[in-house]
Amino acid sequence: MPPPPPPPPPPPAVLCYHRVGGPLELGVTRVPTAVFERHMEALARDGWHTLTLEGFATRLQRGVVASCNEFLLTFDDGYASLAEYAYPILDRLGFTATTFLITDHVGSLNTWDVRYTWRRLAHLDWPAIEHWKARGLEFGSHGASHRRLTWLSDAEAAAELERSRETLQRRLGPDAARAVAYPFGARDARVQRLAGAAGYDLGFGGVRGNGSALNVSRVPVYLWDAGRTPVGVRRDVVGRLGRAIAHVANRCAVGTSVMQGVRCWVSGVRGPYPAPNA
Ligand SMILES: [Zn+2]
Repeated sequence: MPPPPPPPPPPPAVLCYHRVGGPLELGVTRVPTAVFERHMEALARDGWHTLTLEGFATRLQRGVVASCNEFLLTFDDGYASLAEYAYPILDRLGFTATTFLITDHVGSLNTWDVRYTWRRLAHLDWPAIEHWKARGLEFGSHGASHRRLTWLSDAEAAAELERSRETLQRRLGPDAARAVAYPFGARDARVQRLAGAAGYDLGFGGVRGNGSALNVSRVPVYLWDAGRTPVGVRRDVVGRLGRAIAHVANRCAVGTSVMQGVRCWVSGVRGPYPAPNA
């Protein structure tokens, strides 16, 4: 009897940073610039290189990992401080990355979020996005207004996905409209179906995906992930433990969604779970 075929190779690792540098916050998603720089320099020294979205999609579709030292680097929310602290480090190291933008908030403050900082934080504006796109960075959708898609009706979720994609396509071209990172990593079969119907061919969720192109797993890098290399690319016991902790922390973001919902409900903006953003 022939031996069973080997399992398909795992897809390349996907790291998800949020804020790099800038003001301190009460939350856990800000990574100091020195930690980010240490991560990137260690990965570069160890021979890692970053994938483009196209390269990542190709490996995912074909089940091929050309090198065990490839990863996709992503940022959620699109804060303006990325251009100040993170992008220049990537530029120096020859790394690329994909930043998922909250398209209704490009060029404005993060009024969609619970207030974790003394002052509201600025998002990247279109000129900065166009500048860094021309230098080889990529952009995608993080929803139009960061609403938790799994809590919305079909029509509302579709509108979030479609409006965001249409904005990206109009401002940056079709290659910026192929991928979505679900706000909070919250997705289910219905949201994935709606994302596909809206025209996305890649969808990024939380730590535990199912291997399909519209439910790709990512490992968030949180405040405590301050070692030489982020846990998302480690294949040892520390990596497995770190990914389990990141999964729990990601699930805890539901508290932020609830606070957003309550805030909007109190202000009478929308229904009971109106714009549960964070
Ligand atoms: Zn987000």
